[in-house]
Parts: sequence; C-alpha cells; structure tokens
Amino acid sequence: MGSTALAVASARALETIRPDRLFDDQIALQTVAAAGAQLAAWSSSRGELLRLAMGDYFALRTRYFDDFLRDAVDSGCRQVVVLAAGLDARAFRLSWPAPVRLFEIDRSDVLSFKDRIITGRVPTPGCVRTAVVADLREDWPGALRAQGFDPLLPTAWLVEGLMVYLTEQEGEDLLTRIGTLSAPSSRFAVEYGSLAMFQTEQARAALADATDDDVMHTLASLWRNESTEDPVLRLARHGWSTVSHEAADLARTYGRPVPPAFDPALPGTGRISLISGSRTP
Ligand code: SAM
Repeated sequence: MGSTALAVASARALETIRPDRLFDDQIALQTVAAAGAQLAAWSSSRGELLRLAMGDYFALRTRYFDDFLRDAVDSGCRQVVVLAAGLDARAFRLSWPAPVRLFEIDRSDVLSFKDRIITGRVPTPGCVRTAVVADLREDWPGALRAQGFDPLLPTAWLVEGLMVYLTEQEGEDLLTRIGTLSAPSSRFAVEYGSLAMFQTEQARAALADATDDDVMHTLASLWRNESTEDPVLRLARHGWSTVSHEAADLARTYGRPVPPAFDPALPGTGRISLISGSRTP
C-alpha cells in the first residue's frame, strides 16, 4: 500500500513541474528523487498505460481536496485530520487562512519515510502539524486524542485514496468513529471508489492482458470496498450532508481533459466520486 502513496506522489510531482500547475508540491518532487527504484514498477510500460488512462485525475483530486480544506478552515474548522495521509504535503504547501492544528494518520513506515523526506528539505508548515502513527482498523481515535485532538471542536476530515482499500465493514467502522469524533459544523471529504465502480470492460481488459506482477494486478488486489450502497446515502446514514462530483465534473471546473479511465463518453469506463459536505445539523 505504501507503494500506492509513492505512485500518487509521483503524479503530484509531474503536476508540479507544469507551467499551468493546479498546485505546487515540493514534497512530491523530493519523494520522487528519494524513492527512485521503488517507483520502477509504476514507470514500466504497463505503468505508463495506467498513467495515460488516469490522465490528470490525481491533479484534479488533489486540487479539489485543497479547495475543500481551505473552505472548511474559512468556515471555522480549526482542526484538520488527514486519514491515511501517506505523502500528503498539505500541511506544508497550503497557506492556511487561520491558525490550524493538522493531524496526519498513517502507518509508522510511511510516516518515517516521509520524515526523512521532509527533514531539512521543505519549509516548516504554516499550521501545527502532528503525525499520528496508527492503524485505521484499530484504536486510532485513542491515538488521535492522546496527541491533543479535541472532539468538541469542529474538524475537517479528509479521506483521500483510502476508502476503496477498506472492506465494507472496515469502511463502516471508520465512518462511525469519524462521526463520533465530529462536533457540529465539522466537514468531511472523501474519494469514494468501490469494486462495483471499477468492474468495467476497461479494467477487465487491462487485467486480462496483465502478468501477475503487473501494476494493474497490484492495484486490483488492494481494492476491497464491496459496498453497493449509494455513497451519498451511505454518508447521510453517518450524519453527513454531502455533494458528489465525478472526475469529469472536476475536469470541467479546473479546465483539464476528462481522465480517460473515468470518461463517461467512452465505453466501459469506471467511476469514482469525490464527495464533500458538512455535519447534518
Ligand atoms: N492520502 C494519501 C494520498 O492521497 O496521497 C495517500 C494515499 S495511499 C493510496 C494510501 C495510504 O493509506 C498509504 O499511505 C497507506 O499507508 C495508508 N493506509 C492504508 N491502510 C491503512 C491502515 N489500515 N491504517 C493506516 N494507514 C493505512
């Protein structure tokens, strides 16, 4: 799974070197320089095919969640929790409109790799950043509170690049725990994918062509969310009033081509939803 965090960082590095970039992620550039060989599978010819299919998707998703966090802080959230943060650089690269305490939760190997990248290489963050080592299937709320998280304050929650990797039950547990820790006026954003959304002609064809050690197999073996419930309704059950956007909507908003893997105008493509909203009053 750490390798998927690297692959996403490499997509953010490619965006960063564009003159018309949607954001500037120096940690992503440093990550690609440091990770070198570990990124080899993703830069193979099959990795390249996947990259072409994803198009600008990771850049669009990153910018969408950047905007979500800015809005959440503007609207009064002073705590941010980034679940499964991986190599997320928002603590460092966003200019926070108000004083913010930002918690990043991930596994110890990922967070210590990130520490090595950050140390001495990137400017100090404009918020108070706390890295929380925890497994999201275990008592992460305890670990978060032990580090100073206050459940009485409105919080902005970010779940990016995680939901599809959790089983339906693990996803339920995660959403229940987030709900318990969310004061009124909290905000929530998630990238939502499920097996049903990826069981497409394109994915089947890519898997049929792939050898066992291919990046497509690596990815497909990690997808576990078997829920078929409408994600907006699922979140409503957990106390969130949200709006869902497809990759094609974001492409229009940010002036980029629709990512081919999620282009509704092409046959057999997948779906992914970028969803955000606030606590139901
Ligand atoms: N959110 C980041 C982003 O979009 O760049 C990272 C996404 S990466 C695809 C998935 C991350 O989830 C990895 O950093 C991995 O370590 C973390 N992760 C997966 N399962 C986890 C678990 N059970 N507990 C903690 N972290 C987990």
